[in-house]
Amino acid sequence: MSEQTNFYSQSPGSAEIASRFPDLHPAFDKTAAVTEAHRCLYCFDAPCTAACPTHIDVPRFIKKIASDNLEGSAKTILDANILGASCSRACPVEVLCEGACVMHRYNKQPIEIGRLQRFAMDVLHESGAPLPFSPGKDTGKSVALIGGGPASLACAAELRRRGIRAEIFDARPLPGGLNTYGIAEYKLPLAESLREIDLLSQLGVEFRFNTTVDAAQLAALEASHNAVFLGLGLGAIHRLGIAGEETAGVTNALDYIAGYKSGEITSAPQRVAVIGAGNTAIDAANAAVRLGAREVHMVYRRGPEQMSAFAFEYEHAKQEGVKFLWHVMPIGLKGTDKVEALELVKLETTSDGSLVPKAGEEFSLPVDLIVLAIGQATHTEFLVAEGKASTVKLERGRILIDRATGQTSSPKYFAGGDCTNGGREVVDAVADGKRAGIGIAAWLEGQDANA
Ligand code: SF4
Repeated sequence: MSEQTNFYSQSPGSAEIASRFPDLHPAFDKTAAVTEAHRCLYCFDAPCTAACPTHIDVPRFIKKIASDNLEGSAKTILDANILGASCSRACPVEVLCEGACVMHRYNKQPIEIGRLQRFAMDVLHESGAPLPFSPGKDTGKSVALIGGGPASLACAAELRRRGIRAEIFDARPLPGGLNTYGIAEYKLPLAESLREIDLLSQLGVEFRFNTTVDAAQLAALEASHNAVFLGLGLGAIHRLGIAGEETAGVTNALDYIAGYKSGEITSAPQRVAVIGAGNTAIDAANAAVRLGAREVHMVYRRGPEQMSAFAFEYEHAKQEGVKFLWHVMPIGLKGTDKVEALELVKLETTSDGSLVPKAGEEFSLPVDLIVLAIGQATHTEFLVAEGKASTVKLERGRILIDRATGQTSSPKYFAGGDCTNGGREVVDAVADGKRAGIGIAAWLEGQDANA
């Protein structure tokens, strides 16, 4: 068993970045938290709990805040969701628990569930109290988990609670995947992601960093472990497919966000264009504003009604000062050593719904930096051994699983998170990982019973 690690102390975050990216939703103090908790109706069939993919018992944890049982409140959250702290900050609560709150029916403000959850988790972390549950009795079984993001972390927690060794392999130098590297700092600071993962370390989860697993290593892990969990996330952001994309000054949203979160990017040039209109595109555009860009445009082929970003994210970007260019498409770049302009053309929609360029409506947008945010490719190539069928069944690059257990077409392999659903919320990945951890433990028990 590896020694317990304090990842929080390894955070590369800087005071400069912290001051530029203050919390989007500031923390409650105790008085405000208790007052808000007392507003809750503690509904019997709580729709907020049903709307949470991990089914946190919301009225129960809120009631414990109201009665000053803060450790009990944190335990209620962690029992259902080991990443309750990051989910309290990164979840789109407007469309999940708070969106389902009965207060809407009475034309009242929904209970601020996200901020209450964060309050309970922050108190636990700041008290230095240990995780309120322990690893299960050692079963002698082990599972290799590929990828160190939320799905693997949640799966590993369930395994450890059942006495199963959990060994996580990740290509990056720090754990957490998108939680650590890919979520805007004003929602989830890198240091907070690491602080939460220290709980996993307390449970005895083992981490192997800077390790990219290929087909040969996967075969070795399959042989040396009782099961394998694939929490691969997604791969690289798509390219535009236009000439000049290799020019300096073109990057992608995930590298851009990871760059400023880890302190490698500390400022933005004057003019930035972000291509795409999803939540990650908005995170990148807002980051460019906060890093000092004078003019930030988001460029999208369709209109605001079709953008995949949540409505509240769109409103947030407008408040940050991001400008939007709708119904346009990039057709080229200008600049030799460094990008100088993005060449665009206006689009129109034909009667059959396709988008076509408008003749004579080309124009040029001067830019110093272009950030691509047009969706991610899958990252499952290594599951296909040369000349053989895939280790597990795939559909359009996504791993097919039994949604109840996370088991793939190959019984020893389980999977969850973005590599199975194409990219959803952190809390969905946690729910997948949790189900798979329970599914793996049940499958291993069944194997023993049949031996
Ligand atoms: S639906 Fe709203 S009022 Fe009811 S338990 Fe949940 S948070 Fe409280």
